[in-house]
Amino acid sequence: MQGVTSTAFGPAELLHRLQARGTAAAVSPITHVERIPARAGRTASWPTWTEPTVRDAFVTQGIAEPWQHQAAAASLAWEGTHVVLATGTASGKSLGYQLPALSALARDPKATVLYLSPTKALAADQLRGIARLGLDDVRPATYDGDTPREERDWIRQHSRFLLTNPDMLHHALLPGHARWGVFLRRLSYVVIDECHTYRGVFGSHVAHVLRRLRRVASRYGSSPTFVLASATSGDPAGTAARLTGLPVRAVTEDTSPRGPVTFALWEPPLLPPASSTDPDTDFEVELPPIRRSALRETSDLLADAVVAGTRTLAFIRSRRGAEVVATLTRRALDEAVPGLGDRVAAYRAGYLREDRRKIERSLLSGELLGLASTNALELGVDLVGLDAVLICGYPGTRASLWQQAGRAGRAGGEALAVLIARDDPLDTYLVHHPEAVFGHPVEATVLDPQNPYVLGPQLCCAASEAPLTPADLELFGGETAVAAALGLVEQGVLRRRPSGFYWTHRGRPDVDLRGTGGSPVAVVEQATGRLLGTVDPGSSHMMLHSGAVYLHQGVSYVVDDLDLEDGIALVHPEEPDWTTHARDVTNVSVVDVRSYVDAGPVGLFLGEVDVTGQVVSYQRRRIGSGEIIDTRPLDLPVRELRTVAVWFTVSPDALVAAGVEPADLPGALHAAEHAGIGLLPLMATCDRWDIGGLSTANHPDTEAPTVFVYDGHPGGAGFAERAYGVAAEWLRATREAISSCGCETGCPSCVQSPKCGNGNNPLDKAGAVRVLDVVLAALADQPAIPSQK
Ligand SMILES: [Zn+2]
Ligand SMILES: [Zn+2]
Repeated sequence: MQGVTSTAFGPAELLHRLQARGTAAAVSPITHVERIPARAGRTASWPTWTEPTVRDAFVTQGIAEPWQHQAAAASLAWEGTHVVLATGTASGKSLGYQLPALSALARDPKATVLYLSPTKALAADQLRGIARLGLDDVRPATYDGDTPREERDWIRQHSRFLLTNPDMLHHALLPGHARWGVFLRRLSYVVIDECHTYRGVFGSHVAHVLRRLRRVASRYGSSPTFVLASATSGDPAGTAARLTGLPVRAVTEDTSPRGPVTFALWEPPLLPPASSTDPDTDFEVELPPIRRSALRETSDLLADAVVAGTRTLAFIRSRRGAEVVATLTRRALDEAVPGLGDRVAAYRAGYLREDRRKIERSLLSGELLGLASTNALELGVDLVGLDAVLICGYPGTRASLWQQAGRAGRAGGEALAVLIARDDPLDTYLVHHPEAVFGHPVEATVLDPQNPYVLGPQLCCAASEAPLTPADLELFGGETAVAAALGLVEQGVLRRRPSGFYWTHRGRPDVDLRGTGGSPVAVVEQATGRLLGTVDPGSSHMMLHSGAVYLHQGVSYVVDDLDLEDGIALVHPEEPDWTTHARDVTNVSVVDVRSYVDAGPVGLFLGEVDVTGQVVSYQRRRIGSGEIIDTRPLDLPVRELRTVAVWFTVSPDALVAAGVEPADLPGALHAAEHAGIGLLPLMATCDRWDIGGLSTANHPDTEAPTVFVYDGHPGGAGFAERAYGVAAEWLRATREAISSCGCETGCPSCVQSPKCGNGNNPLDKAGAVRVLDVVLAALADQPAIPSQK
């Protein structure tokens, strides 16, 4: 290793060095290099309807003309067509909605605009952007939980461009709509920024909040046009339509310019097998193979980058991980050239503004060459002048991946991005299937407004804002909503009168936009009484049983006591040398089949299921080696969950014909189930923790070998339904993830799961591929799967 000379090398030199490292290894860790050429921007002239004052304001800001996609979306919105603009990071989506919205405000002195963002930081950023335009009589204002009381009245009466979030809409604006009458009467546009963040249970709630907004607005005589901005995704128009309940057109062609990017996919090598002593039997057992840790690989690559003089940012998923990478990199550099380690730092949320600015400045000046960061950087922070980005582990969605990769590239110059796979089937799949990263996206944002656990509470909110008429129920889901409203009458929650359904209770319904009933469990630090966070009741037994190691923002705690009656887990900070893994016993029973495909020896189903689960014990495993220290019993009650599942069955004869022996069947199905859960986030924006599964060689309800994958939230959140709709694609990717992993008998990168309630036993990797081949062959002979609802 050599010191840094004054002439720094660019991304090309760094890639060259990384490739040299790759050829030195037995199996090159670089699985793919994609060169994305530079793209020249394509502008359009200002739409003829643009108000001259608005156009001039943009021109003064240095925007001579809009990009074509901005003009296309803006013109659709101006005509009153609901539109979603789904283009890449930094493609200038804001102009697409600002242009029609601000023109409307200029033309009609009484018109108003409502802007919704998922975070306060983003709303603040937008506010600055609009204020900078210096337009008269717009009076943009943010309205959130931090807005002082005395300012609220002024904002309500005078602001014409209100920036807020779905929570405020739900808790404040809609319940108090009478006071917002003036604003709502002339509401011309509703802008929904970063709409891909409204997914799962939260997204399903937000979908109803938007329907409530449309209903209330129409009572005041307005029917605003919706303009949505989204990251690129599999079906932006479909998702936006589901979210708003309106037909939405999508604009997806990105016409903004960008510099050339080289994107490398990197898979850490498998380590030689190790062995350990089983504590129960004292026998020497071979531990499952593991790959070199993605954190170590990332710190090696970061050290290479610093030596090459390339300004590089490494994204790490946890705060602790970011600290580890920074420390390892500094140590390696100091060993090579004393003092060189000083040119690397860690960066994370929670730093003071001043410290952050200092780091930003040092990076810009070149004093600092390497930075290890959590994704806290994704929003709101300005880091420019980077040459390369290392992404340690797939960040969960394509939107995040490209947002992180987009950090590299100085003023249109060349940039390098490297995705380093973690031990996870999805990461394994991606580094072996570049088309999934660089081709047309298949990942869709899913939500399910029909979820009864969301629909019921939301109907109560709507009824408390104004009685629900039959026409209103059409808006909230038609027959399903009527049935739900009648159910609420039966429970004594709503009252039915000839004019509609009434909320007759004192006060407002108490509805949490992120929940499906049941209070979350509070995680409290025992010594200080400080509330660290909350955990969904459904995950609390698995994550917060006494003795569990619980990570909060990268800091490690150990649970002293889980009090289910009071919904509190008491914890203390501790970083033990082990991790904990809960074991549970799960049963699934089929309640109702909604839809199915009869594919000969294979059946594919979507339906309602009851899942009962009991966490019975937990294992402690040594960090690093994974060695099992011991298994400890737990005394927790059975939990029940009514949810939506997708499942497939395979006839035993077809399995035997495919070479899966009955004795290997449980392991084969279990391995297929794990990998299937791991790959579902490729098709739907969810976390593998949002879903659960069960596999069995003979299920009492299906009377066949069966694999179930279910939504982990009561009533379902759309994940299982999406899996059913794209079953062939999903299971093909699952099969590929398993077969492309270089391990012999299964590892965390393919069929092992960190959340397995059976301690990853039994698992049969080769058998899983055979099972999936049978399923895929049968599904291939089928016409398209009937779509849902
Ligand atoms: Zn493997
Ligand atoms: Zn399992």
